[in-house]
Amino acid sequence: MKLVTYEIEHKIKLGALSKDEQWIYPLSSMGVDYGSMQELIENISQSELQLMEHYCGFEWGRIRGAAPLAEIRLLAPIPNPRQDVICLGINYMAHAEESARYKKEEFSGERPFAVYFSKRVSQAVASGEGIPSHRDIVEDLDYEAELAVIIGKEASHVKPEDVKDYIFGYTVINDVSARTLQNRHKQWYFGKSLDGFLPMGPCIATVDSIPYPPKLVIQSRVNGELRQDSNTELLIFGIDHVVSELSQGMTLKPGTIIATGTPAGVGMGFDPPRFLKPGDVVECTVEGIGTIKNTVLE
Ligand code: MG
Repeated sequence: MKLVTYEIEHKIKLGALSKDEQWIYPLSSMGVDYGSMQELIENISQSELQLMEHYCGFEWGRIRGAAPLAEIRLLAPIPNPRQDVICLGINYMAHAEESARYKKEEFSGERPFAVYFSKRVSQAVASGEGIPSHRDIVEDLDYEAELAVIIGKEASHVKPEDVKDYIFGYTVINDVSARTLQNRHKQWYFGKSLDGFLPMGPCIATVDSIPYPPKLVIQSRVNGELRQDSNTELLIFGIDHVVSELSQGMTLKPGTIIATGTPAGVGMGFDPPRFLKPGDVVECTVEGIGTIKNTVLE
């Protein structure tokens, strides 16, 4: 099942996509009433999820308030994340190589430990919205298509084999990055966290809608040209490892977003680098979840 946050007639609502993905069914018409996706993730029961799944199989005419996808405005599924996004750095081998090449560093081909960093997000960007270029301070704007995991229940000291039980679902993010800011301040926080640097969506695919662990094609395109093309089965540190490791000393709350890293083919990986400029259209796609499409603003 695919869940969305959307706006219709100036009201923000939660919905589910119909099976043919042409319609949005408001959750309120299924008797599932939460004020936000965050609240839903924190409180939803298994029986409510089953009920929603059931309604998603109905024809649109049987759902009160059903709206064609084309007539609503999608928001990011979690428009205002409660906490910073937890990110994995260089978590695909081919991206580790291109990253080391760009920074003119030696790369041993070994990654004994995962690289974690965080990304501030006060407002996530919906598919269809613009990415600010921040041209006054950024000359090397870059894209990173990533699979993001959304935690569904409080996770503390979770064993790798139990991790799936703690996942609510998945979404697609673009870990937009300003490379100079990312690298010159020693920590990546600033260069990863400018306003508008987290396009997210178009939906949350619930955990049971995708075979676990996810082995999904992940791609990005700039102005239609394929730039990244990989598969999430190539993560160096998989979801089991990451959630289990972090939860050993850090309680992960429901709604926590973990971006699992990006494959090779980002702008800095080209020689010469191919950074984004105003007017460029970036699409990030993960199989089984969907595509987010954003234009770089002036
Ligand atoms: Mg990234």
